[in-house]
Amino acid sequence: MKVLKFGGTSIQDGERIRNVLGIIREAMRDTPVIVVVSAFRKVTDLLLDAAVKAGEGDAGYSKKFDEIEALHKDLVDDLIDEGRKKEVEKFLLEELAELSDVLHGVCLLRELSDKSRALIMSFGERCSAWIISCFLRQEGVEASYVDARNMIVTDSNHCDARVDMKASVRRIKARLKKGSGVPVVTGYIGAAPDGTATTLGRGGSDYTATIVGSAIGAAEIQIWTDVDGFFSADPKRVRDAYALPFISYGEALELSHSGARILHPYSVHPAMKAGIPIRIRNSFNPDAEGTRIGVLEDKGGGGGRPVTGLSSINNVVLLNLSGSGMVGVPGIASRLFSCLARHMINIIFISQASSEQSISLVIDYSRADKARKILEKEFAREIAARQIESLTLKKRIAIIAVVGNNMSGHPGVSAHLFETLGKNGINVIAVAQGSNEMNISFVVESRDEDKALNCVHESFFLSRRTVHVFIAGTGTIAKSLIGQLREHSLILRKEMDLDVVVSGMANTRMMAVRDDGIDLGNWEKALKPRNDGKTVRDYIERIRSMNLHNTIFVDCTASGDVAESYPDLLASNISVVTANKLGMAGSWELYETIRNAQRSSNARFLYETNVGAGLPIINTLNDLRNSGDKIIKIEGVLSGTLSYIFNEMRKGGKFSEIVRKAKEAGYTEPDPREDLSGADFARKFLILGRELGYRLDYEDIECESLVPEHLREEMSVEAFMEKLGSADADYDEKIRKAAENDMTIAYAGEICDGKARISVKMLPVTNPVAGLNGTENMVVFTTDRYLDTPLVVKGPGAGGEVTAGGVFADILRIASYLI
Ligand code: ASP
Ligand code: MG
Repeated sequence: MKVLKFGGTSIQDGERIRNVLGIIREAMRDTPVIVVVSAFRKVTDLLLDAAVKAGEGDAGYSKKFDEIEALHKDLVDDLIDEGRKKEVEKFLLEELAELSDVLHGVCLLRELSDKSRALIMSFGERCSAWIISCFLRQEGVEASYVDARNMIVTDSNHCDARVDMKASVRRIKARLKKGSGVPVVTGYIGAAPDGTATTLGRGGSDYTATIVGSAIGAAEIQIWTDVDGFFSADPKRVRDAYALPFISYGEALELSHSGARILHPYSVHPAMKAGIPIRIRNSFNPDAEGTRIGVLEDKGGGGGRPVTGLSSINNVVLLNLSGSGMVGVPGIASRLFSCLARHMINIIFISQASSEQSISLVIDYSRADKARKILEKEFAREIAARQIESLTLKKRIAIIAVVGNNMSGHPGVSAHLFETLGKNGINVIAVAQGSNEMNISFVVESRDEDKALNCVHESFFLSRRTVHVFIAGTGTIAKSLIGQLREHSLILRKEMDLDVVVSGMANTRMMAVRDDGIDLGNWEKALKPRNDGKTVRDYIERIRSMNLHNTIFVDCTASGDVAESYPDLLASNISVVTANKLGMAGSWELYETIRNAQRSSNARFLYETNVGAGLPIINTLNDLRNSGDKIIKIEGVLSGTLSYIFNEMRKGGKFSEIVRKAKEAGYTEPDPREDLSGADFARKFLILGRELGYRLDYEDIECESLVPEHLREEMSVEAFMEKLGSADADYDEKIRKAAENDMTIAYAGEICDGKARISVKMLPVTNPVAGLNGTENMVVFTTDRYLDTPLVVKGPGAGGEVTAGGVFADILRIASYLI
C-alpha cells in the first residue's frame, strides 16, 4: 500500500486534477493506493472568513459562501461528464445546504464556538474528496469517498484536536480493509468522541496521511505538493537553495517546527514510529525525485554533512526577564512557563545563561501584549521588590535554525556558524542549542534575516562563494576593473570557486544596483539617472538597505566625500577597497576616524593602490613591520610624471620641452603645475609616513615645488607653458655640476626618523633611482634586515590597468578573508 496525499494547489483546477489522475494511475501500477486530499486551494481560507463573519453577525458571510459554492460547481462542470453530473451534484448540494444552514445559525446566534468553527471548516475536504472520488470513478479508477470523521478519533479540542491513535488505528483498519479500489479520504478532519467534527490544525491533511499510512502499515507515504521537497533553505530567500534528496525524521521534525512550511510538524511522528518513509513530491514537477524522509541509517551511517537545512521564523517577539534576584531562586522559570501555558501562549525558543540573571523566550507576535500583561501580574511582587529588574519585549526579530543530525559530536559547527555571522556584522541577540545537538537556533533582528540565511547557507552548503562588490566611480580605473573582472570571472569560478558579483555602480549622476549582479557586458546601459538623490550618502544608504552578505565597497573616485564615508561603511561592516588617496592622506582627524572604525569593525579596509598603484608597497611595508623588521629609511620616486621628466632630462632633454611632451602624452594633469608642485607625491609619502606610525599631516611633508619661483604668480596654463623655458638653464647647470662628480639629479623623497622630505637631489649615478625609465616608480626600503642591499620595489606606478589590477587583488584578499 501507498498513501498519496494531495495538497490544495495540486488539485486547484481541472487541469491539475487530471494531472493527479495520471499520478494515481502511475502509482497503482505497483501497489494499491490510498488517496488523501486537502480542500481545494483557497477553500479553507474562505470557510474561515465566512465563519468569522457569521460569528460577528455579519450577513456578508453569504458572499464568501457564494464564492465557495461557485468554485466547487465550476470544478464539477469542468471535470464531470453531463451524464454523471446529476449524481455528483446531488451530494454536493446537500453538503452545501448543510454548510449554509450552519453559517446561518452561527450568524443568528452571533456566536462562533470552536465546535461550529470545526464543523464549518470540515466542508472543504468533504467536498474535494467527494468530487475527486467521482472523477476517478468516471475515469475508470474504482474509487470510493471516505469521510475521515468515521475513522479518525480525536479529543474535543475541536479546532486543534489531538488524535487518539489507538482508537483511530482500529477504525482505519476496519474501514479501509472493507473497501476495494482506491479510497479517497478527507484530510484534515476527524471526530470527537461525541461524533462532532474536529480539525487537526491548519495544514493538517499531511497528518491525516501519516496517521492512515501508519495504521495500515503502508510502504510509503507520499506528500504531493507544489515544491520539489525540503530545501537546504527557503528558496524565496536564498537563491542558491536546493532540494534535499534525503533527510532524517528528526531533521524533518526540527525543520518543520522552525518554519519550513512543507510538512505539518505533527505528521512526522506517526510515520517515524511506524518506520514508514515519507516522500515529498512536486505534482507540478513529477520528474523531480523529491525529498525522502526516513531513518538516518538509510543514508549510509550518517557520514554526510553536519548541517542539513536552515529555516527561519519571523514575526516573533523576544521576551526577556532579568534581574539579580532570580539567581539561585528555584521556581521562577517554572512560574514563567506555567503562566504562559495557562494562557495558551506557545514558547518557540528558550535561553537562559548559567548566571541565571536572565531568561529569554521567543513567542509569536500576536501574543506579545498579552504575555507582557500576564507576566507583569504574575511577577508583580518580584518586580516591586526589584528582584526582577526588567521585563522587556523586543519586536522585529527572527529566529534562524541550523538543523542537522550529524552536528552532534561534530565540533566546529557553531564556531563556523558564528564566525560567518560575525564577519558579516550580524549581531546575534540570543542563542539556543538543545543537547540533542540537532538544532542551533539563534535570534537576529528582522532586517538581518535574509542576510544571515544567505551567508550561513553559503558557508555550509555551497562550494561556490559569492562576494558582492559596489563600485563608486565610473572613470578609467572603474572601467579597467570591470574589464578585468569580466575577463577573469570564469577562472575565478573554476579555480577559486568564487563569484565576484558587481551589485552596484554609481557616479554622481547615475546609479545601477542589482543584488544578483549587473551585466558587466552592458553596464553603461544599466546605469540610470539617479532619482533618489545624488549624494554618496544615498548610494551607501541603498547598499546598507540591501544588506547583502560579503559586501565590499570599491572606491574608484578621487572624491573627498566618498573618502569621508569609509568610517560609516566600516561601522556597517561593509569592507572597503580604495584607490582614492583622500582618505588615508586626508586630515589627521579623518585618518584616525577611519583607523578607529577599522579596528572596531569586522570588515576590512585595503588601499594598496594609494601608493604606487598596483605595486606592492603598502603590503611589503606591513609585512616587514609585522614580522619584526625595523624600517630605517624609505626612499623613492612616487610620481610617474616627475619620474619621466627627470629620466628624460638625464638623457639630455630640456626641462620645458619634456614637460610639454609629457602634457601632450597625457602623463600630466591638464594643468602640469599640479604635478610639478609635488602634491600628489607628497600625499603618497604622507601615507607611507603614517603607515610607519608617525603622526603626520600634509603640511609636515617638506616638498620642493618644481614650479619655478618666478612663475608662481597667477597665470593661465598657456602662459605658464610659454614661460617655462626660462627654467631650463638652471636644470642644465645642475646636471652639469653633478656630472663632474659622477653624480646625477633626481626628484625623490625620503622618510627617516619621522621626517619626510621630497626634493631635487644629487645622487651617485649608481643609485637605483638614477636608473629609472619612463614613468617608473620606485620605493627603496632600508631596514635592519635589508641593510647593505636595500629592498627595492619598482615598476609602473600609474595607469588604469595596473591600478585596477591592484584594486582587484585587494578585493580578492578581502574575499578570502570573508570566506
Ligand atoms: N485544508 C486545510 C488547510 O488549508 C488542511 C490542509 O490543507 O492540509 O489548512
Ligand atoms: Mg495545505
